[in-house]
Amino acid sequence: METLEFQAEARQLLQLMVHSIYSNKDIFLRELISNASDALDKLRLAKLQDGLEADTSDLHIEIETDAEARTLTVRDNGIGMTRDEVVALIGTIAKSGTAELLGKLKEAKEAKENPELIGQFGVGFYSTFMVADKVILVTRKAGTEGHGTRWESAGEGTYTIDDEPDAPVGTTITLHLRPKDEDDALYDYVDEWKIKEIVKRYSDFIAFPIRRVSSGDGEPEVLNSQKALWARPRSEVTDEEYHQFYRHISHDWTDPLEIINMKAEGTFEYEALLFIPSRAPHDLFQRDARRGLQLYVKRVFIMDDSKELIPDYLRFVKGVVDAADLSLNISREILQQDRHIQMIRRRLVKKVLSTIKDLMSSSPEKYATFWREFGRAVKEGLLAEPDNHKPILEIASFATTHGSEPTTLAAYVERMKEGQEEIYFLTGESRSQVENSPHMEAFQAEGYEVLILTDPVDEIWVDAVPEFEGKKLRSIARGTVDLKKDEEEKEPEGDFAPLLGFLKEKLDERVKEVRLSHRLTTSAACLVSDADDITPALEKMYRAMGQ
Ligand code: ADP
Ligand code: MG
Repeated sequence: METLEFQAEARQLLQLMVHSIYSNKDIFLRELISNASDALDKLRLAKLQDGLEADTSDLHIEIETDAEARTLTVRDNGIGMTRDEVVALIGTIAKSGTAELLGKLKEAKEAKENPELIGQFGVGFYSTFMVADKVILVTRKAGTEGHGTRWESAGEGTYTIDDEPDAPVGTTITLHLRPKDEDDALYDYVDEWKIKEIVKRYSDFIAFPIRRVSSGDGEPEVLNSQKALWARPRSEVTDEEYHQFYRHISHDWTDPLEIINMKAEGTFEYEALLFIPSRAPHDLFQRDARRGLQLYVKRVFIMDDSKELIPDYLRFVKGVVDAADLSLNISREILQQDRHIQMIRRRLVKKVLSTIKDLMSSSPEKYATFWREFGRAVKEGLLAEPDNHKPILEIASFATTHGSEPTTLAAYVERMKEGQEEIYFLTGESRSQVENSPHMEAFQAEGYEVLILTDPVDEIWVDAVPEFEGKKLRSIARGTVDLKKDEEEKEPEGDFAPLLGFLKEKLDERVKEVRLSHRLTTSAACLVSDADDITPALEKMYRAMGQ
């Protein structure tokens, strides 16, 4: 037997669990069932795709309780884990951004706020320590010979790991429940009704039977309906059921902002159930983050994170696509080239964008939340999908000199002044920096509205998007902006000629030209780029990237 230490981050997370940061402890069972369900999916898939020899005729999850011993056991006959996997998967937290998130969690806990944050995180297996003071995991990986593995921990600094000769294939997790606390009615997890209630509430849609076994009293009872949620008509599914399913697939604790059902019949059949989250995950802009949708073929789980089904700029969309006519053996490589998948992807994009557009009128508040959380990602689509410029611009909003609320381009165009033909914008690092830019002076003085673009991606897409509703997008930092119709160019230098000459000579190589301008009202001078030069901020960005 070996005693090992939890990795530092894992230890911190365990601490938070033991000192219970969730008020709702019931969720530990949901987490165990979710893991068991994943393990069953994996076993079925390994058999289908890798030819693993395994009996998949009775894939199931069992829940057994012992009131006297105060234990609760969750058992699955899924893929199981090797000893190394147990150490790697249970002893450490591999997810990126963990340390940072833990810091925030601790702050939230200290501030006694309800730390919803943890939901972003999928605390998973460790949530068992909210209700148990000892957890034993016995597992054997499918397809391996010899012994299995036994893992045991009290959720403090260490765990033990040992061989377990007779472990069946799959994983069994036994919780020794904490002593019953007089004040705490939640510790009823050995009661039949409690187990039934939790399974019904959180795990009804799980595709495998969840059986309750109790010593002696006959046939095990199946506690869940096992109905695939995406296959059921929307009118028959409660919001609560959708929300639980969303949690199962997304590990997000907050309810989704919007739910989208799709169904296509005919030559290529598929069903989709998509969720737009109500807040951005902490790793939205991290390269190695999990993203994409789950792919099923005729109710059989095929893969997670299927990037082929949704473009990168909509990577925050969660959900399931169940296609009827794909092969169960389909690989990622084939998926990328599959014509039908590309068609599904186009339809999903269209549907997501139109759903957001509908929100703008049906629920402006939800729309505002959406854009605040995901706008930065969505704007990447202006670079990635020229064909979708129009629908993306239609759902975009931008900070503006017209008031403190963001504006849509359509609203901007409505407000354009007589004779104004272009949409003016200025990019920069922050609102105040942009507002105080000398470039802004003449526009402010003349009462022109200017969009304030401060996201890094703004620097790039503005060059890729020529116009909106026939109005050109125009940076007020570039070239000559003819607020006063061509006068700028023709302004006679007159008495200023010697000064301009002097400045040009002094600044020499550093500027192309020194000219008189209308664009300033209080500043004496400002720097402008040529119309086709890159903006100063973009120049800075490139320089920062070492180019
Ligand atoms: P997550 O499910 O988000 O990955 P968990 O903490 O719930 O995080 O589980 C960590 C990992 O441990 C899982 O990803 C899985 O690889 C492994 N695991 C947990 N439970 C089981 C199980 N019943 N069977 C096989 N592997 C499991
Ligand atoms: Mg899990």
